[in-house]
Amino acid sequence: MLILLAGCTTAPRNNQPLPTVWEQTNAVPSSAGNPCLPSARPAPVPAPAFTPVPPKVSRPVPVLTWTSLNEWTAEHRLPAPKRVGNLPVTSYAITSPQGTMVLEIGSREATWRGLEILLGFPPEIIDNQVFVHALDLKKNLEPLLLGAPLTFHGNRILVLDPGHGGSNSGTHSVLDGRCEKEFTLDWALRIRSLLATNGWTVFLTRTNDSAVSLSNRVVFAEAHHADVFISLHFNSAAPDKKQNGLEIYCLTPTGMPSTLTRGYSDVWTDRFPDNAYDAENLQLAVRLQAELIRCSGEEDRGVRRARFMGVLLGQKRPAVLIEAGFLSNPAEARRIETPAFRQELAEAVANALK
Ligand SMILES: [Zn+2]
Repeated sequence: MLILLAGCTTAPRNNQPLPTVWEQTNAVPSSAGNPCLPSARPAPVPAPAFTPVPPKVSRPVPVLTWTSLNEWTAEHRLPAPKRVGNLPVTSYAITSPQGTMVLEIGSREATWRGLEILLGFPPEIIDNQVFVHALDLKKNLEPLLLGAPLTFHGNRILVLDPGHGGSNSGTHSVLDGRCEKEFTLDWALRIRSLLATNGWTVFLTRTNDSAVSLSNRVVFAEAHHADVFISLHFNSAAPDKKQNGLEIYCLTPTGMPSTLTRGYSDVWTDRFPDNAYDAENLQLAVRLQAELIRCSGEEDRGVRRARFMGVLLGQKRPAVLIEAGFLSNPAEARRIETPAFRQELAEAVANALK
C-alpha cells in the first residue's frame, strides 16, 4: 500500500525501498494524533488506466568524446570563450544572442544568464584548451545558447501537479507541523486562477486533499493531452534547519550522471519516455527558475537532474518538478506559510508561461 501511495512509476533498482515523499526518507507514517492526517472521508482515487511502469530502455550509449570549446564556438559562429574572474577559480564565458553561459573549470556548476545550472561533467583544461563533454554540449549548451526560445503550441494545456495529498502529507513545517500537501495545493490553485485568462487550459492532478499515486499523475497528464507538466513541491533537509533556496528538477539525459540520486542507483544508460524532451525540459526549467528567483527572492540552488522521480520519467511532454524552498528552515517555512508569498510563487510560474 505504501508503495502504491508513493507510486513511483519505476521500480527502484537493487530492491531499494521507495521513499514515501521526495523530501524525506524518514517520512512520518499516518498515525493517530498526526496533525497531517487526511480528512476522515478521503476523496476517490482515479483508477489506473495503464501499467504504472513506464517503458524504459537500457542500451549502450555511444562513446562521446570531449570537445574543444574553442572549436565548438567556432563551428557555431560564436565568439571565442572569454576567460573571466580571478585565480584560483578559472571560468570561461560563452555568449550567443540568447545569453551568456559561464563554465568553471573542474566544477559541474555553471551559470546561464546569472542563474545556476548543473552540468553532467566538469569542464577540463587539456593542453591549455578548455574541453567540455560532448553530452554537456548537446544537452546543456546547445538548447540554451543555440536553441530557439521555448514556445508553446497547440492547445496550451498545462497539467499542474500539487505534490502529495491524502495520507501522503509530504514534509512538515518546522514551525508548526503544517503539511507540504496543503501548501502545494494552494499554490496550484493560485496558478490556475492566474492562467485562466492567459490562453492556457489548466488541469490539476488533485483539487482537494486526496491521495493520487505518482503513476496516476502521469496517467492524468496523458489523458488530458498535456503540453506541459509541472509538479509543485516544498523541500526538507530536516533535522538540518539551515539549508534554504529553490531548485528545479528535470529528468537526467541518458549517458549523464544525475545531480541527485537520493540513495537510488543511477543507471546512466537508462532511457525514459521523457528523455525525448531533454532540450525542452531544460528550457522550461530555466524559464521557471528565472521568474521564481526574481519574484520570490529565494536563493538559487539551480536547475538539477534526477532519474528517480516517478512523475517525470514517463511523461511525453516537457515536465519539471519545482522544490520552492525548505519547510525545514524556520525563515523559509514562515514565508511559505504566508499566502502572499505563495501568490508570488504562483505569479512567477504564470509569468514563465506567458
Ligand atoms: Zn514534496
